[in-house]
Amino acid sequence: MIYFIGAGPGDAELITVKGMRLLGACDVVIYAGSLVNPEILKYAKKDAKIYDSSCLNLEAIIEIMRKAHNRGQDVARLHTGDPSIYGAIREQMEKLNELGIPYEVCPGVSSLTAAAAVLKKELTVPGVSQTVIVTRMGGRTPVPDRESLKSLAEPKATMAIFLSADKIKKVVEELADSYNPDTPAAVVYKATWPEQKVVVGTLKDISKKAKEAGIDKTAIILVGDFLEGKYEYSRLYHTAFSHGFRAAGNSCGKPGCREGMP
Ligand code: SAH
Repeated sequence: MIYFIGAGPGDAELITVKGMRLLGACDVVIYAGSLVNPEILKYAKKDAKIYDSSCLNLEAIIEIMRKAHNRGQDVARLHTGDPSIYGAIREQMEKLNELGIPYEVCPGVSSLTAAAAVLKKELTVPGVSQTVIVTRMGGRTPVPDRESLKSLAEPKATMAIFLSADKIKKVVEELADSYNPDTPAAVVYKATWPEQKVVVGTLKDISKKAKEAGIDKTAIILVGDFLEGKYEYSRLYHTAFSHGFRAAGNSCGKPGCREGMP
């Protein structure tokens, strides 16, 4: 079995319990060395064979998986954050389909949610934005024209921009038609790593501030009014609002639910 495992954003404790267990049970480990914190490898078997995929192409990666599978060994394929976001896993899974090799995907903590945690922010604040746009500037991998930052900016939703720290000036220019220049923005570099850096500002100054901080890679750019300013409380914990688990008022009346708790 091949296990695609989300290794999390950096902090070795931010791999899931399941991901850690699977990693510890595999004889072969292939990790994305350019982004995955090698400290995570402490969870691997002592005698596991470990490969860094940043020096390998797709064929070489699949060949390692195929050989291990033929030997009856399981493989842990570690991807940074969550494998489903800019993880380049589809082509690996399709090659495995062709070879008839079974695989599973174990999700991980994306650097997007890690960045929100570092900033202590909620991405979806009522009254501000209920939508998170996850995108990037085109680079070696082009972005379809209809998904240009300019057009995605129109709803002024919460925006999380991956893989674009080196083009932050252009990012800001593209957003300028829709977002107010005073819209808050943040750049989180290497979220949850010891060398983490956080830069906060507005669309007016974020590019300059990020440059001054020397950030040009491994960062998430977050833009939107969720970062600061007015919002509304969620209905979820609102006194006047009933839902499937709680009647309106302070208590649902069930044992253990203390009446009058704030
Ligand atoms: N699958 C990953 C994203 C891989 S693409 C995830 O879910 O997070 C690589 C990009 O992710 C980087 O260019 C950067 O934009 C972002 N990234 C990865 N790790 C990060 C971290 N620890 N802090 C901030 N951004 C990070």
